[in-house]
Amino acid sequence: MEERTRFKFVIVGSGLGGSAAAHVLKESGESILLLERGDFLKQERQNWDVAEVAERRRYDAEELWLDQNGRPFRPRIYYNVGGSTKVYGAAALRFRECDFSSRRHDGGATVSWPFGYRELMPYYERAEALLEVHGEAGEDPTEPPRGAFPFPAIAHEEEIERLSGRLARQGLHPFHLPLAIDQGPGGKCRKGSPCDGFPCMIRAKGDAENRLLRPILLKKTPNVTLWTRSYVERLETEEGGRRVVRARVIKDGQAVLVEGEVFILSAGAVNSAALLLRSASDRHPAGLANSSGLVGRNFMSHNNSVVLALSPFRKNPTRFQKTLAVHDFYDRGSRTGGPLGTIQLRGKVTEEMLKSKRNPLLRIFRRAIALRSVDLWVMTEDLPDPGNRVALDPSGAIRLERRPTNMRAHRELLRKARRAMRKAGYPICIVDKRGVNAIQHQCGTARLGTDPSSSVVDEWCKAHDLENLYVIDASFFPSSAAVNPSLTLLAQALRASEHLLLESRAGRA
Ligand SMILES: Cc1cc2nc3c(=O)[nH]c(=O)nc-3n(C[C@H](O)[C@H](O)[C@H](O)COP(=O)(O)OP(=O)(O)OC[C@H]3O[C@@H](n4cnc5c(N)ncnc54)[C@H](O)[C@@H]3O)c2cc1C
Repeated sequence: MEERTRFKFVIVGSGLGGSAAAHVLKESGESILLLERGDFLKQERQNWDVAEVAERRRYDAEELWLDQNGRPFRPRIYYNVGGSTKVYGAAALRFRECDFSSRRHDGGATVSWPFGYRELMPYYERAEALLEVHGEAGEDPTEPPRGAFPFPAIAHEEEIERLSGRLARQGLHPFHLPLAIDQGPGGKCRKGSPCDGFPCMIRAKGDAENRLLRPILLKKTPNVTLWTRSYVERLETEEGGRRVVRARVIKDGQAVLVEGEVFILSAGAVNSAALLLRSASDRHPAGLANSSGLVGRNFMSHNNSVVLALSPFRKNPTRFQKTLAVHDFYDRGSRTGGPLGTIQLRGKVTEEMLKSKRNPLLRIFRRAIALRSVDLWVMTEDLPDPGNRVALDPSGAIRLERRPTNMRAHRELLRKARRAMRKAGYPICIVDKRGVNAIQHQCGTARLGTDPSSSVVDEWCKAHDLENLYVIDASFFPSSAAVNPSLTLLAQALRASEHLLLESRAGRA
């Protein structure tokens, strides 16, 4: 017989969504269990070792998925307390007002959110305060209405300040990229260490563990329990099929049945969908919460490329490079007037990072390139397409079926980025494209909406089909916009969790 235990709130996954839910629901005083399949990510010397992290993939999950052709690949996915935010780049942008409505792109259309920017505005404020976001209001030409940032913007280093001036002289509006990093006077961040794509050895990054979970765990909040190395296999309902009653968990290799009153699924966009599909039963033959047939569908993860812009005459000694962005082509800019996306600087590329690149140019001249390059992250919107989906292979493995969307807009933004960099004095621009298997901004697989036939969860992230199942992670995004997802995920996670807290206090949860 397996062990049994019972909690009021059961949260699956300790990433940004799950941590936010625990942060809000702890106020209920009710018992809360967070189930995390991974362990704490160690603070160790290797956190900043490029070969260990980028080449040997020390912190990536040891798992193989299948692509649309059935070929196995090892996804860049992170199973540890804090989820992907342990390695994220901490760019913390709000969606623009226009991102909440349906928009026509060159490659198709997006879907509206059931609420607008104003509804999320107070939660964005709280999200920025929680993650300790540094930024400067009023600089970004597409910025939605907002007050001051909780912390001043992280200053550009000399080379980037010069670049900012050269871009401004072209009529563009470069701005300080909002970042959830404790840098600036009195800040913890040591500028020279790798950050974007790396764990922070000194906890200067505003990740889900540092800012949301650790304060709960350090205070020994008695009603919150975290189980690590606890993999949720299935969620099961009572006979009527309207309520989830238990999770089947493998904890340190042992089977445990966790019963609960409210279940919150926060396993990330791919794994939440996979768990719902794995939880199929007689009552829910297509998977849990899947009467719409949309669980796993509309997978999105942005279209991304890196541009290495080089001046043969100038070295780039910048240590912390990710401080600047350009949004002049966010709203418009395509040949038909459609939206394009964001151009941001990324963490400084080093010689070691180029060692295993497929492009021989990057590999052979890696030393010279890394000394000189200014490195850009060019990102455009990935559009919802039901054919792009997470499915389960008969072997039980996750199958990610994905074909690119909206690539014309991506190529157009790449052209604009290269042209701007050439004019700014970087005549050589090498593009390093990310493949369709780059899943760092995964979202959309259990989209929120008001119509149960075209969405999986309602505007409070509650599954339409069930009374007590919530999906609070990047799965709920109906559209992905073209800015980094975390802040919007956190804002809506706070909003949905607060609603759940009120329902619980009123005896309705
Ligand atoms: C390299 C990288 C850079 C990024 N940079 C940025 C950035 O600069 N700005 C930005 O906004 N976003 C960035 N992102 C994206 C951002 O990190 C994610 O959007 C966000 O963290 C997603 O949170 P989540 O809660 O949806 O899922 P996750 O972070 O994936 O968390 C899910 C958690 O659930 C656990 N889990 C999964 N399955 C199970 C199961 N069956 N049982 C128990 N536990 C389970 C996982 O171990 C994980 O801890 C980046 C991501 C990556 C990978």
